[in-house]
Amino acid sequence: MNILFFGPNGSGKGTQGTILKDKYNIAHIESGGIFRDNIKGGTELGKKAKEFIDKGDLVPDEITIPMMIDRLKKDDCKDGWLLDGFPRNKVQAEKLHASLEAEDMKLSYVIEMLLDRKIAKNRIMGRRLCENNNNHPNNIFIDAIKPEGDTCRVCGGALSSRDDDQDETAIDKRHSIYYDTDTGTLASAYYFKDLTQKDDSIKYITLAGEKDLQSVTDELISKL
Ligand code: AMP
Repeated sequence: MNILFFGPNGSGKGTQGTILKDKYNIAHIESGGIFRDNIKGGTELGKKAKEFIDKGDLVPDEITIPMMIDRLKKDDCKDGWLLDGFPRNKVQAEKLHASLEAEDMKLSYVIEMLLDRKIAKNRIMGRRLCENNNNHPNNIFIDAIKPEGDTCRVCGGALSSRDDDQDETAIDKRHSIYYDTDTGTLASAYYFKDLTQKDDSIKYITLAGEKDLQSVTDELISKL
């Protein structure tokens, strides 16, 4: 099963992606997570990416596209994968599509999580990351997933917040890229939506992202 997962930053797609990864035993590949691991590890890639990430800009395509296309060729992707955070603009969508065709990889689902921009911004500012798993749901603004004090509600790990999640200018930039239907992330979602209309082996699914975590999961699983 190969899945593209779209949703605005703050919509909870990382959390839902983790649930699908565990349920279907597929690789969950988060472009933002790869960059953050490289920043943590002090690699050249991390140093280059950080200056863009801190401002809420996209890391340039010439870095991101080969990195993600190579990632799909790794062993753990053989039984399926879920891409989260890539493609993020129309050029990335076109290059990914060409690469899938060249490698004879077939998409199974394209998922679009729908969420109002103001709600997404509020969620981003409230989210806290667990040191053990960034996708353990913790958000100081959502009662159902409020952390236990300063520790993760799932595993008790230490929590922190991402710098780019606390910077309103960076959040606004990330959302302007996401909601842009001409060249941005929604344009890339719609690029694949058009394909699903020509190829009925690929299914396009929309999800109401404003519901609570469990309801979104239930809707998602019922549509797969
Ligand atoms: P995310 O964790 O998905 O919010 O991504 C964090 C940051 O990583 C983004 O704001 C971008 O700077 C960078 N990034 C993640 N995915 C991509 C991508 N597909 N293309 C370019 N930059 C990306």
